[in-house]
Amino acid sequence: MNGRVVPTLPPWFDAACREVEAAIAAGRLAHGILVHEDPGSGGLQLATWIAQRVNCKDAKRAPCGECQSCRWIAAGQHPDLTQLQPEGDSTQITVQGVRDLAADLALTAHGAGYKIAIVTPAEAMNPFAANALLKTLEEPPPRTLLLLVTSQASRLLPTLRSRCSKLRLAAPSRALAAQYLEAARGAGPWTEALAATGAGPFALLDADPAAIAQLRVDTVSTLTEIGRGNLQPPAVAERWAKSDLGLRLSLIESWVTDRVLENGAIRDVTHLSGPAPGLNICRLFEFSDAIRDMRKLAHTSINKTMAVESLLWRWARQ
Ligand SMILES: [Zn+2]
Repeated sequence: MNGRVVPTLPPWFDAACREVEAAIAAGRLAHGILVHEDPGSGGLQLATWIAQRVNCKDAKRAPCGECQSCRWIAAGQHPDLTQLQPEGDSTQITVQGVRDLAADLALTAHGAGYKIAIVTPAEAMNPFAANALLKTLEEPPPRTLLLLVTSQASRLLPTLRSRCSKLRLAAPSRALAAQYLEAARGAGPWTEALAATGAGPFALLDADPAAIAQLRVDTVSTLTEIGRGNLQPPAVAERWAKSDLGLRLSLIESWVTDRVLENGAIRDVTHLSGPAPGLNICRLFEFSDAIRDMRKLAHTSINKTMAVESLLWRWARQ
C-alpha cells in the first residue's frame, strides 16, 4: 500500500477529521465515504487515518497509532483492509478488481472492527467497475466501510457520488505545505518545488526538491531559447520524451499559470510583462490548454516525441 505512515497528522486534515469524529459520536458514520481531495493533499492518508480511527483497539485514544491494528493499517497489512488501485502500467481499476473486493468485503472480519476498502484514485474505475461497486454500496454487508479517494469527483458516476457521504480535503497553503515537507523530509527548497510543480505536498513526499528546481530552470531556459529561435523543437522533443516528461509538463503548466497571475487584471493586458515579455495572453492560454491535453495523454501509448514536438512548435510560434 502506498499510504506511508504519516509523521504527524497534517493541520489541514483537522476539519475533515472533526467531521468524521462527529459522525462517529452521533452513530451515523456512512458506509461509503467519498474523500474529495485537492491533488496531493493527502486523500489516501486521510482514508488511512479513518481506517485506523474505526479499527483502533484503544477506544479512548483512537487512532492511537501504536496498537497492532493501527500499525497493520499503516503498513498496509491489516487483514480487514483492502486497497484497490490500478495495477502495473494500467491506469484503470477493472471490474474484476471490484468483484474481488466485493467478495472480500462479504467475508466475516478477522478482528472485531470494520471490513474496510480504500479505492484510489476512484475515478480510475472504468464504467463496469463503477457499476459493480455501486451494487456493493447499495447493499453493503454489515460493518463495512468503503472509502473512495478522488481529486476529480466530477468524473465519478453520479449514482456512486450520491450513495456516499462527502468529505472534503482542501489543499494547504504553500507555506504550510513547505513546513510539512520540511518536518517530514528535512530542509530543502520545498517552497520552490511546490511552486514549480503546482502540486500538493503529498505529491512531493518522495521527490528531490533540488532536482525539481534544476529541471524547472532547464525547462524554462529551453523554452526561452526555442522562442528566440536558438533551439529547434525536434532535438528538444526527443530529449524531453525520454525522461521526466510528466514533470516537465506540470512545470510548464504552473510556470505559465504564474506568469498569467503575475499580470493581475488579465482583461487589461494583451502582452505579458516581467520575466516573459511580449507573450500574448490569449496564445498563452491556448498553450496552457494544449499542455493540459497532453498531460492527459502522457499515460497513453501516443508517440510522445511527436506530441512534444508539436507542442513545442506551437510554443515557437507564440
Ligand atoms: Zn490504535
